[in-house]
Amino acid sequence: MRKARILKLIGGWYTIEDLTTKAIYDAKASGKLRYMRLEEDSAFLEQVTKRVKKEIQIKQVPPKVGDIVSYDDSDINKPIQEIFPRKNELKRPDIANVDQALLLFSTIEPHFNFNLLDQFLVLIEKADIKPLIIVTKKDLVSLQELTKLKNKLSYYQKIGYQLYYVNSKEKSGFDDLKKVFTNKVTVLAGQTGVGKSTLINALMPELNIETQAISRALGRGKHTTRHTELYHYYGGYVADTPGFSKLDFNIFNKEELKQYFIEFEKYNHLCQFKNKCNHVYEPNCNVKNNPEILLSRRENYQKFFKEIESQKERY
Ligand code: ZN
Repeated sequence: MRKARILKLIGGWYTIEDLTTKAIYDAKASGKLRYMRLEEDSAFLEQVTKRVKKEIQIKQVPPKVGDIVSYDDSDINKPIQEIFPRKNELKRPDIANVDQALLLFSTIEPHFNFNLLDQFLVLIEKADIKPLIIVTKKDLVSLQELTKLKNKLSYYQKIGYQLYYVNSKEKSGFDDLKKVFTNKVTVLAGQTGVGKSTLINALMPELNIETQAISRALGRGKHTTRHTELYHYYGGYVADTPGFSKLDFNIFNKEELKQYFIEFEKYNHLCQFKNKCNHVYEPNCNVKNNPEILLSRRENYQKFFKEIESQKERY
């Protein structure tokens, strides 16, 4: 039995890469794929059916891109036998064991969207993935506007997030950015228009052909769904994915939200209800009105919290 990483899944065939030899094979999921014991807090996000909720469910979990698996090297179909516990996983894009997410935002067209940034940060923090903020099209705004944006964004650096400014046309900012890919599995996220394909093409010309082929195919047939695939890049892997789902508040417990606003914890101790404080309705809250916390972060937190609350009431 040998270990491999799944790089791609198309039509029931997995492309796997042996962890030691780096040899690449087409593999099938074995009929004997090991059954998993699934609990609510297991390493797999697999839904446990309502009937057996809180109990253990035994079922086969389908392997996904990014999974570390064992396979039978002696069999020509290299059948996948077992999926090792996932470090983390995302549903859309469907991928496991991601180290970091590059969150792409443009200065303009579309305008930098702080609400969306905070949504992505919550989603990525919840998935236990490291977020990095990448600002594209820095050449398309005036120096004055760029300085204003940089000032506001420096808050995110202060609370611990890495921030990169790039200009895909001149490839400026690329040297620093490339280094973050080494030894990491990276996904890219960003809304339409932020220049994701432009950045990928400029940063990773070796992936160029693939991206163009895909966009051509997309232009022709509506049925073409892009698949998720891991590419070797700068000593790590980068996932070209069909897109990122926006934050689904339905899966959230409102009490949980505050932990994904990573800087709030620092201020908890002065809230009247300490760690129990949700920083929304409680009196003497040290987060709600704290000028040290960026105003738009506090506002977005309140918005998200109330959205979760109203969803809970509806169901
Ligand atoms: Zn509070």
